Amino acid sequence: MTAAAIPKRGAVVAIDGPAGTGKSSVTKRLAELLHFVHVDTGALYRSIALLCARLGLDREGYDEGLVTELARKAHLEFKRRSDLNPANRIFVNGEDVTELIRTPEISMGASKISAIPGVRAALLGLQRSLGCAGDSILEGRDIGTVVFPDADAKFFLTASVEERAKRRLSEMEAQGKDPPSYQEMKRQIAQRDKQDSEREIAPLRKANDAVEIDTSRLTLDEVVERMAGEIRTRLGR
Ligand code: C5P
Repeated sequence: MTAAAIPKRGAVVAIDGPAGTGKSSVTKRLAELLHFVHVDTGALYRSIALLCARLGLDREGYDEGLVTELARKAHLEFKRRSDLNPANRIFVNGEDVTELIRTPEISMGASKISAIPGVRAALLGLQRSLGCAGDSILEGRDIGTVVFPDADAKFFLTASVEERAKRRLSEMEAQGKDPPSYQEMKRQIAQRDKQDSEREIAPLRKANDAVEIDTSRLTLDEVVERMAGEIRTRLGR
C-alpha cells in the first residue's frame, strides 16, 4: 500500500510554518485540549540529522544515498512519559534522543538533510501512519501540502523574524541553555527559512486551503483559542 493510501481512522489537523512561530507550543496545547495525538514531524528529521552528526557526515556536502539509507533503516518511535517533560518523547533505534536533538547544530543539520528527496520519501509513510492512527494533529513544513493534502483542517503560522528570534532566545534561557546573540539567532532563523522554502522538494509553503495566522502580536492563549474554534467548526464537534 502506498503511503497516501493508508486510510484515516480519525480527524487530521495540519499545522505548518517556519521555525519559531509557536507551532510546537500551540500544537501541544491543542492536542491536550482536543484529546488528539500530537505528532512533531520535525523531530523525525532532527533524529536523522543526529544519526548523521554521530557518524561525522558532512553538513555541507551530504552523501545523499548514505543519508537516505540511514533514514530508511532508522527505527523511529514516539512514546509518552507522563513523568517527564516533554511528555512526548522520541526514540531512535531504542534510544531516547528527545533532548539531544534540540541543539542549533541539529536544527541546521535537519534543515539540510530534509532537502534530500530519499529522506523525505523514507519519512513520509511513517508520518502518514502516525497521523492515520486516530484523531491527530501534526506540525511540520509540508503537512498540509504533501503529507496530508486531505487534512480536515489546515493552518499556516507565521511571525516576523525579529519576534521569532526573541521567542527562541527566551525559550533557550528558560531551558538553561547558553543562547547565541540576538543577531546570530536572527541569522540562523533566516537561513533555515531560506533553505526550507527554497528546496525543490516539499518546500515550506502555505497550502491553498490553509488558514494563515500571524502570531507576532498574539498570545499563545489567543492563537490556541482561535484555532480550536476553527477546528471545532470544521469537524462539527
Ligand atoms: O520543526 P523543526 O524546527 O523541529 O524542524 C526541523 C527541520 O526539519 C526544519 O527546519 C525543516 O527543514 C525540517 N522539516 C521538514 N518537514 C517537516 C518538518 C520538519 O522539512 N514536515
